[in-house]
This record gives sequence, structure tokens and C-alpha cells, in this order.
Amino acid sequence: MINRLAIIGVGLIGGSLARALRDNGGVREIVGYGRSIGTVQEAMRLGVIDRAEVSIADAALGADMVVVAVPVGSMLDVLAQLAPGLGDRAVVTDVGSVKASIVAAARPVLGAKFRNFVPGHPLAGGEKSGVQASVSDLFQGRRIILTPEPETDADAVARVRAMWHAVGAEVATMSAQVHDEIVAASSHLPHLLAYTLVDMLVRMDNHRAIFENSASGFRDFTRIASSDPAMWRDICIANGDSILPLVRQFQTDLDAVAQAVEQGDEHALFEIFARAKRVRDSLIKKN
Ligand code: NAP
Repeated sequence: MINRLAIIGVGLIGGSLARALRDNGGVREIVGYGRSIGTVQEAMRLGVIDRAEVSIADAALGADMVVVAVPVGSMLDVLAQLAPGLGDRAVVTDVGSVKASIVAAARPVLGAKFRNFVPGHPLAGGEKSGVQASVSDLFQGRRIILTPEPETDADAVARVRAMWHAVGAEVATMSAQVHDEIVAASSHLPHLLAYTLVDMLVRMDNHRAIFENSASGFRDFTRIASSDPAMWRDICIANGDSILPLVRQFQTDLDAVAQAVEQGDEHALFEIFARAKRVRDSLIKKN
């Protein structure tokens, strides 16, 4: 049981975690901090947080668990403001979609308290943002990746693990570097491709006709292009080292597909499509 939970950034992810812990009886008090007064007022009105603080350090005072749920580009600034308010027993975790750059930024600003910092990333979310979109079952049955460093306190990891278990999630651990490489492929590259495809089509003269005559496949493929652009800008910059080789590989593979189409190479096209279907069908769980 968490006695006092501080949520820094009460948006989709921070708000959903607060709701889920409250519903499961996993927390006694929830204190929130948000960038804008409107967001924290809305979080109070919705009953997501019990009270709000006007500074990040004040929100962390007396908290035994602090969850930083702000955009990746704001993490360093927030962690620096957080450090003075942290008690010796306070555990800090984050939910950022990129891990190595956050760990590197956290180490110097948290100093001795870095050992109580447990980097995390829930593989759950959606294209909607803000506390209004938060729901209590967002993490049910979903995977959370924790990327503890060698010096991370084992008890801190256990407490963060227990928090996620309390909201129905399963927890995996791996290094920050491995995490960043995996999610670059499974999440960051697909978002980059979806945004680029929609942007390319939008700039065509007949784009209205294209969108009006699209079917469910187009919706499925482009849904993630409705995600928050600022959030994905931050992620692409922070994880550029892992994303760029994949973009280059994709360009090469796309060139090969274009060449097969140009040459009417039925065999090459069928091989690519059949391999992709076979592997996707076997590896992705049906809903
Ligand atoms: P969100 O709904 O936009 O919420 C972000 C919250 O952070 C907002 O309440 C915002 O306040 C606040 N904020 C922004 N900058 C801040 C700052 N400098 N100081 C304090 N608060 C600040 O975004 P989200 O989807 O919850 O994403 C939050 C984090 O979760 C990101 O790091 C993201 O990478 C990660 N994540 C997202 C997903 C997803 O699918 N959405 C999945 C996994 C992980 P205002 O409302 O006042 O602007």
C-alpha cells in the first residue's frame, strides 16, 4: 500500500495510474502537480487527485512514491526540481517512452537519491492525451518495462513492481539500451511512418478524395498519426540513435518493394507479403 503518491504530470498516463491505484485500494492519498492550473483543477474535479501542489518539490514532500509522467523532453527539468523535495525513503519512477537518455539525465540531478529512481515505461496508452482521457483499466493485462541500473536499490524496484502489479499489469525488466532498441522498432518507427504517410497524402491535391474514400485498413494503419505531435517529437529526438538505423533499413526495403513492383516481379512481392503475414499471424495475439 502506498501512503502518499505524488503524480507529476496528471495526463493520460499519470491520471490513469492514479485512478487505477485508487480503484484497487493501493493508495491512501494522491497529490498532483501539473504544468497548467486548468489541468490540476480538472484532475481534482474528476477525483483523480486528492489535492494539488504549486511546486514539484512541494508535491514530492512526504511522498513515499513519486511518479513522473511528463513528456520525455521535460523529464530533466522536472527531475531537477523534484530532487530537493525527496525524502530518504521516497521511491521515484517515471513512465517515459525512452529510457537511456532519461537515466543519463537523472543520474547527476538526483545525486545520492538516484539509487531510489526506478526507470519505467508502460506499454499502454493511446492517441488521446490529457487527464480527461485517463481511465482506470488502462494497464490491466499490459506490460510494464522497468530498466533498473546496477546501483538501483532492490527494495525500490520491488515497490515499483508491486505498484504496477496492483493495477493488473505484468512487469518485465531489461537494460535501458535494450528497451530503447526494442521500442524503436515496435513503437517509434511505426509512429514515424504513420505520421509521414498521412503528411505525404495530405499534401496531395486530391487528398480530400483519398481520405473520403478510405476504408478500415487506412484507419488501422494511420490511427497512431492522431497521437500528440509534441510527445512524439520528443521521443524521436531522444531515441534517435535507435530509430535512425531502422529508418535507413526501411528505406532500403521500401526501395526493394518499389523495384519489384516496377519490374512486375510477382515472386519477390509474394515472398515479402507471405513472410510478413505468416510471422504477424503467429506472433501477434488476436484480440
Ligand atoms: P499527456 O496526457 O499529455 O500528459 C502529460 C502531462 O504532463 C500533462 O498533464 C501536462 O500538463 C504535464 N506536463 C507537461 N510538461 C510538464 C512540465 N514541464 N512540468 C509538469 N508537468 C508537465 O501525456 P501522456 O500520454 O500521459 O504521456 C506522459 C508520458 O508518458 C510521456 O513521457 C510519454 O512518453 C509516456 N507514455 C505515453 C504513452 C501514450 O501512449 N500516451 C504510453 C507510454 C508512455 P498540462 O496538461 O498542463 O500541459
